[in-house]
Order: sequence, then C-alpha cells, then structure tokens
Amino acid sequence: MSENKREPKLIIVSAPSGCGKGTIMHKVFNDDEVFYSVSCTTRPPRPEDIAGVTYNFLTVGEFEKMIAEDGFLEHAFYSGNYYGTPIKPVEDNLAAGKDVILEIETNGAFQVKELRPDASSLFILPPSVAELDRRLHKRATEDEETIQKRVAQAAGEIEKSDRYDYVIMNDDLDKAVEDFCAVIDGIRGVKEAA
Ligand code: 5GP
Repeated sequence: MSENKREPKLIIVSAPSGCGKGTIMHKVFNDDEVFYSVSCTTRPPRPEDIAGVTYNFLTVGEFEKMIAEDGFLEHAFYSGNYYGTPIKPVEDNLAAGKDVILEIETNGAFQVKELRPDASSLFILPPSVAELDRRLHKRATEDEETIQKRVAQAAGEIEKSDRYDYVIMNDDLDKAVEDFCAVIDGIRGVKEAA
C-alpha cells in the first residue's frame, strides 16, 4: 500500500473567452498526474482546434442524445452552443488517483460544485471588459456579433467570480501563470522542492 495515499482532487477553472486561459493552462499542463478533461461542444471548430484534443465536436442531435443518456457531469448552453463535460473520463481518472481539471464556464462550474462540494474552483479575471473586447477583436476568430455576445456573457460571468474559491487576474501573462501554478499546486498539495 502506498504510504502517501491522497484523495484525487477535482479542480474547476473558469474564465471568459479571451482571458488568456488557454495560454495559461497550456503552459502549465504537462503533468502525468493531472487529467485535463476534454469537453464536448456543438460550436464550430476554430482554426486552432484539434478534434478530440481541444474539444469533441458533436452535432446538436449527438449532444442531446448524450444528455438524455446522462453522459455529462455537467452541461450548459453558452453563447448559442452546448458545452459539456463527459462524465466517464472524469470518474475513471479520479478512480485511478489522478487529479482532474475542468475548464468550464460558470453555470457548469456551479453544477459541479452542487454535485461535488469538495471540488475547488478558480476564476481567471481579465483586467477589464474593455481589454477583453480588445483581445477578442485581436484574435479575430469570430464575427462581430459573436464577439459582442461573448463580451456581454463575460461581463455576466465576471460578476459571479466572487463565488469561486480562488480568483487570479491575467493582466501580465508571466505573473498569471505563476499565480495559476501556485493556486493549482496548493489545491493539489504539490510542493516544488525549493
Ligand atoms: P470557447 O468556445 O471559447 O472554447 O469556450 C466558451 C466557454 O465554454 C468557455 O468559458 C469555456 O470555459 C466553456 N466551456 C468549455 N468546455 C465546457 C464544458 O464542458 N462545460 C461548460 N459548462 N463550459 C465549457
């Protein structure tokens, strides 16, 4: 029997699109002990998306079938599309002793907190809604209407950030990565040997 047996952790990370969440998380996650959940969505893939890696892209029919079959830990309708966390990989990885990270929006985050009050939650704030708007325009992967929808959605999500266990701000990428790692390591009980 392992002497340092610990409960695997379920960690929720939320941030409105354009917060630099993807950049922060991909700088951090190359750890075999962590399973990074791959969500399902009905939104169209962006150029940088890789099917099965960034998302599983489903039709609305496929997604609704999975809802009916209780295939999701949580799901939400966000900015005109479905998003959901497939339950099986989460359960399998927790059962295998791995920590699991869910990168999901606020409604899904609160669903998970209801089901799993022991889950830890972290919100990444953009410096301001105006800056978020600027970043989404710079990214230029969506049309104007979609960007406006996302900015409005982001403003609503930011108001809910005080319901999270931890909040960090991404106004400086290096600092945000450092803060993010410190929070995640703290939740996981992982300490770098100084
Ligand atoms: P995007 O379309 O920019 O990739 O994601 C839009 C929003 O959906 C982001 O806030 C992202 O965190 C969230 N999201 C991604 N996957 C899931 C999921 O499985 N469930 C929920 N509730 N939100 C998700």
